[in-house]
Amino acid sequence: MSKRHVYDLDLPEWEQWVQEQGQPRYRARQIWEGLYRHLWDRPEAFHPLPKALRAALAEAFTFRRLTPEQEQVSSDGETHKTLFRLPDGPVVETVRMRYLKRRTLCISTQSGCAMGCVFCATGQLGLLRNLTAGEIVEQVIYYARWLRAQGDRVTNIVVMGMGEPFHNYAATMEALDRLNHPRGFNLGARRITISTVGLVPKIRQFAREGRQYNLAVSLHAADDALRQQLIPVARRWPLAELMDTVQDYIRQTHRRVTFEWALIRDVNDTPEQAHKLKRLLRGMLAHVNLIPLNPTPGYEGRASTQRRAEAFCAILREAGIPCTIRLRRGIDIQAGCGQLAGQALGQRPRFLVGKSLRAAGATEERTA
Ligand code: SAH
Ligand code: SF4
Repeated sequence: MSKRHVYDLDLPEWEQWVQEQGQPRYRARQIWEGLYRHLWDRPEAFHPLPKALRAALAEAFTFRRLTPEQEQVSSDGETHKTLFRLPDGPVVETVRMRYLKRRTLCISTQSGCAMGCVFCATGQLGLLRNLTAGEIVEQVIYYARWLRAQGDRVTNIVVMGMGEPFHNYAATMEALDRLNHPRGFNLGARRITISTVGLVPKIRQFAREGRQYNLAVSLHAADDALRQQLIPVARRWPLAELMDTVQDYIRQTHRRVTFEWALIRDVNDTPEQAHKLKRLLRGMLAHVNLIPLNPTPGYEGRASTQRRAEAFCAILREAGIPCTIRLRRGIDIQAGCGQLAGQALGQRPRFLVGKSLRAAGATEERTA
């Protein structure tokens, strides 16, 4: 029988396990604190436990399902990216960013992604598989250990790596709840942001369940025709329905929602799109995050210029809608979503469009 992963159990499950071993319940708390507070990485480290329980831990559990296979550091040293191999073969990426006092991790919830957004390297891979809750947690623990060795710690988590978190909803929530747990890793809910491509039923579920994590919605277009071109899954839920759902979420939670927008030159960075977006967001508790496109091998679109990005932002700001232009940090290490994994897997270009074969060659040269 294969061993269970230590990060796959929640506290009540640990309590059950220690009791099955004939041990009192408080031993579960000691294990929990060892895993999430002390970040111990092997059974022998759990010195508060009796020897027999340590042996049982070693017998029944594995501490590691992620093997770091490639590490890259950006030229400014502030962005660090790891490609992990999972035991059954697929790969997954995690990115650490340092900005002022923030130590933000960008974590993945799936290897690949089924949503097929044309401009996204992960979408171009297709879905390989969902990650388990433990595999999602372990990405954070890996970097938390790494930061601790330098006297530092994780301050923020963004669920914006590979995959669509709401397409692996249960495992994502389990993982975040474990990281948020006050007796363990204890990262505040407001320091955690989940980004979704806009799966309407799951946004409704998220609102209903009342978790306090921040929500970001990837919009990228302010009319259905363009949005459906860029995001195939958008055909399932027209913009009007998506925006109603987000409005309901805001009404229920009183939380501000971030809308993400990858600025693609001459595609969605036009004043026309900015004006449509302004009308879409009027009166809403929203914030717009503009990200100049990171070029990917399977898509010929280019990034907007800084001038176009600023003009787009200005239209929104004039209407009182807060807007920021995010730096493409770590572009020299392909910290864009799924780009390193694409290379490692020899990228199956599933969504090549137009003159893309030539463009793909050119893009690879530019980003290599
Ligand atoms: N699946 C989720 C979260 C992961 S993607 C989502 O789509 O929201 C995180 C963000 O990166 C999304 O806003 C996504 O649209 C954006 N993104 C993906 N590929 C990109 C690229 N090549 N350039 C810029 N942003 C990109
Ligand atoms: Fe999946 Fe998000 Fe990439 Fe779209 S942008 S393919 S939803 S990871």
